[in-house]
Amino acid sequence: MIYLDYNATTPLHPRVLEVMLPFLQEKWGNPSSPYRFGNEARGAIERSRKRIAGYFGCKPCELVFCSSGTEADNLALRGVVHALKGKGNHIITSVIEHHAVLNTCKALEGEGFRVTYLPVTDNGVVEVAELEKVLDDETILVSVMHANNETGVVQPVEDIAALTREHGIIFHVDAVQTIGKLPRRIAELGADLITISGHKFYGPKGTAALYVRQGVPLGAVTTGGRQEHNLRAGTENVAGIVGFAEAVSLAFESVEAEGQRLRELRDRFEKQILALVPGVRINGAQASRVPNTSNMTFASVDGESIVLGMDLNGICISTGSACSTGDPEPSHVLRAMGISAREAQGSVRISLGRSTQETDIEAALMALKAVVERLRGISSIDGNGQSR
Ligand code: PLP
Repeated sequence: MIYLDYNATTPLHPRVLEVMLPFLQEKWGNPSSPYRFGNEARGAIERSRKRIAGYFGCKPCELVFCSSGTEADNLALRGVVHALKGKGNHIITSVIEHHAVLNTCKALEGEGFRVTYLPVTDNGVVEVAELEKVLDDETILVSVMHANNETGVVQPVEDIAALTREHGIIFHVDAVQTIGKLPRRIAELGADLITISGHKFYGPKGTAALYVRQGVPLGAVTTGGRQEHNLRAGTENVAGIVGFAEAVSLAFESVEAEGQRLRELRDRFEKQILALVPGVRINGAQASRVPNTSNMTFASVDGESIVLGMDLNGICISTGSACSTGDPEPSHVLRAMGISAREAQGSVRISLGRSTQETDIEAALMALKAVVERLRGISSIDGNGQSR
């Protein structure tokens, strides 16, 4: 199998598994228990928190461990707007967010909050000027992602943070797709709340954290025990947290060299696919992107069919976000970039990772060329969009 879908998920790194095993086998105490066996688990959690804070440039108490990026996004959005209900009811986000944010905003609209969805440019970028236009006295929260999961396009979150700070508005960043891909200490982004998720950078699935800048008003969403500074009730996933910290460490150790390596592979792939196959466009190519991601539109073919065709060749790619696979709707991200519904249906994403080698890229190129040619051969429309 050639796996080219690292934005969907990544395998557990052997080093991560190694540090987790003792907490799954011998050290399985409840971190809330008062005896030494429990304290051992508690100590492991707090050491992990401190370790991650060191890499992020924040205080350990500013990290809340969660069970997924989705949960951390929910905690950020719901936690802030419920805490600030008396102050205003306006939320601003962008049309290209992950459904973890978009569907939470939809649910909050149902509770009476007003949500503005910022547009993006043809290259998939949220413009600060657009945000400035819609800020009002009722705005209590802005949520814009760091890099988009489908296109890899990086958003100007530092500039947005400067603007929201000036207006005293809370700013949340979903940075799930940038840890291990961009060499930034997340606290330097200037945001008040930042979501990260372990399974996107070789950590265990079901592990995540929300960075909450000290002093940011946040209400709990899950109620129960007093875990995670009273913000996220529930017995902690001790082994998961220990593995998550190891994955953060790995991500920061190799981010520069790995980024450079993947960027070269990705750029070579794009150059060759444009040369080999007519009727291809790279989406978001003119914008700043994370180094591992390429989103392509193939004229006159269906993206789902390309994915299935590639699967028959043992190659895993995707039509966009894993969460919307099987969703007949064209990608909301590509549609927001002004791409027609029909073209959006003909789009696929490849995302590279640690195991990707040049030979994988070569094999994927040849397979993609053959699959698209075969599909176009049986399609009633040619590569230039003309009916046969
Ligand atoms: N936000 C972004 C940008 C993502 O890409 C994803 C997962 O694809 C999520 C949030 C959700 O993270 P999780 O899978 O940990 O719930």
